[in-house]
Amino acid sequence: MQIYLWKCYDLMIDKFKLKDSNTFCMLPFMHIYGSAGGDMVPCCEAQEEPLNNPGETAIESWNNNNYRELRQALAEGERHPRCEVCWHNEDAGIVSNRQQWEHDNWKDFADKIAVNSDYSVNNPPYWVELKVSNFCNLKCIMCSTHSSYKRVKDLDIITKYTTDGYETRLLRPTSLFESLNKWPDLWDTVHTLQFTGGEPIINQEHYDLIAGIPESVKANIKLRYASNLSYIKFKKYDLVEIWSKFKHVNIKVSMDGIDDVYNYIRQDGDWNTVYENMCILNDIPTIDVAAGITVQAHNIFQMPEFYDFWKKSNVNLSFITANILQTPRYLSPALWHGEYRDAIIKKLRAAESRHPEMNRFATYMENTQRNMRDYAKMRKYTRDIEERYNPQIKLKEMVKRYLKINLENMTEVNRLLQEKGPVD
Ligand code: SF4
Repeated sequence: MQIYLWKCYDLMIDKFKLKDSNTFCMLPFMHIYGSAGGDMVPCCEAQEEPLNNPGETAIESWNNNNYRELRQALAEGERHPRCEVCWHNEDAGIVSNRQQWEHDNWKDFADKIAVNSDYSVNNPPYWVELKVSNFCNLKCIMCSTHSSYKRVKDLDIITKYTTDGYETRLLRPTSLFESLNKWPDLWDTVHTLQFTGGEPIINQEHYDLIAGIPESVKANIKLRYASNLSYIKFKKYDLVEIWSKFKHVNIKVSMDGIDDVYNYIRQDGDWNTVYENMCILNDIPTIDVAAGITVQAHNIFQMPEFYDFWKKSNVNLSFITANILQTPRYLSPALWHGEYRDAIIKKLRAAESRHPEMNRFATYMENTQRNMRDYAKMRKYTRDIEERYNPQIKLKEMVKRYLKINLENMTEVNRLLQEKGPVD
């Protein structure tokens, strides 16, 4: 096994002192995140600017000037601008990604990190997290083109309501993936290999990377996926067979509802297929399935039924992660107004004794300012998408089914916008 000594300094930094810094983050010391375009970036929250310099391989980047500068700043109490999302969340009183990581993982990795006085590290990354591309088989109603290239076809609609922040290229991380497979002995020490997308299971790069991992070390590596699980067999690949070689696999299945709401939001997806695949994986002892949902305007009214479903299901979910949608703002669950807002909050509160998570969703709605302009945007965007794709169920029918209220028509929406102004 290669020993990862970039430099041998007499003076190494006491890593336990690093934690005294109130901006310390363990990620750049033991983790790499690969963006859809193949850049190395600090984490999923800080993807704007690459840490790798042009032409560098992954191993060359790991202790380059950008990594060392970021580590030093975080270890010396400086709020590095790359990490703006964490500072913003902490100032808003929300647990940030860096705080969550430290809470969940520091004890497992502290002894394995070796930091030199110039903030190079002697250890390789133990946690490799890779976005496989922005290519996805689905085009979810709230997704940006950063996560699903298929949404490029809807840019004529999207750009009517959001003028910037979209990606028109099909991104491929091929060179980074090749570079990782050439990093000597990297896989000998990797603890967790994590894939996100786009959709990992339909991207060839994902299979090529896995094929490059020596058979002898697969049993030491945990795999984690964020996947829509539309497939457990893809082309010549049998995922259950591939995953059986690894120590453990966790699949967080991206879903934004069950049944009709799932099919409405996750365009081109099929709820029955996904649930069937989850049932198959549920019976395999080394595989855990979990659910990841984005709570938004088009599913907030189904949340009690969603949690009820998983309580009764034979699929034993290891966890449900529920993120409340922040962008685009006009699809936030909080924008419902008047009787719709009251009915949603009442429904969530009534389910609180069965599902404590409902309190978080209801509190968010109660505390977030309503905005009639965003509500009108949601209704117009929804109308445009429904006209284009003619889904089996429409928003009007979902509101009727889940809230027992008739949805007002667009004439009424425009009248309210005139009457109440942009913000009510
Ligand atoms: S401080 Fe936050 S944004 Fe920066 S690397 Fe850590 S988790 Fe990511």
